[in-house]
This record gives sequence, C-alpha cells and structure tokens, in this order.
Amino acid sequence: MTYVEEHPSSEGECVCGQTNLLWMFTITNSNNGAELFPIGSSCVNHFERTDLNRQVAVFRKLMDIRAAAQQQKQVTLTTDYFSRAVLDYLLEAGAFTPDEYNFWDAQGDFEFLRKMFGVRDKSTISSKRQWKIRKLLDLKVIPFILSDERLG
Ligand SMILES: [Zn+2]
Repeated sequence: MTYVEEHPSSEGECVCGQTNLLWMFTITNSNNGAELFPIGSSCVNHFERTDLNRQVAVFRKLMDIRAAAQQQKQVTLTTDYFSRAVLDYLLEAGAFTPDEYNFWDAQGDFEFLRKMFGVRDKSTISSKRQWKIRKLLDLKVIPFILSDERLG
C-alpha cells in the first residue's frame, strides 16, 4: 500500500468498477513495481491479504490524525488516533529521528510511545511522561504525518 487519497466528493471509482469511493488506495507490487490505482478500501479485502487489510486500517488512522492536526485539534496517544500498527508504521517510515533529547536513540522514543500507548488508564502516567508524549507527538509524529507523501 503506497498511497491513499480522499476523493473530494466521494465519487472515486475502483479498478473493479465499484463507485462512490471516498478513500482511494494505490497498491504497488514490491517485486515488479506494478501499480493498481484506484482501489476502494473494501475492495482491498478481495486480495485476502491480512497485511493489506492492516495497512488500510493504518492509512485511515493516519488520515484521521492529519485531519485533526490540520483542524488544530489535539491529537492524543489513544485508540481514537493510534493503534500498535500505526506506531509500527511510523517507526518503519522513519518518523522517529535521533536527536539530542533521545540521546541519538530514535528507537527508544518509539518504544516509549508504544509502552505509554499500552497503558490503559492514561491518568496514571506521570506528568513528566505526559510531557514527553506531547513533545514526541507535536515535534515528531504529527509533522511527519503532515508531510508524509503517501497521504494524498
Ligand atoms: Zn474495487
């Protein structure tokens, strides 16, 4: 899954002929580079590939985060916006970068966020950690998503 875009008036048409798509995905065959576009999110199920289905869910969440950020809403580290798969995507895509605050250990930031995401009662997270979560979301995650070229 290499690209997703939102049809401005929900009138996208899938390669299979299904109409009225809002979300149009591009799927690229990593072996030969062949692209399929546009594919509707429900049509992705026809491929019966769990990795593709998971990616659809990730891309939808990324689009939600982007929309919230563009509307100046505060994005929180909750299931409203995130999932473990979204955090994994962000790591793989390079959202976490080494800097002096993480002592040049970007992986540590990812592991911290994953751990904090797994805390059920977020009110038990210390204020120092809450602050770190906010900084990582505002300075790394959200700017990365806003500039992610896979989101059209
Ligand atoms: Zn289709």
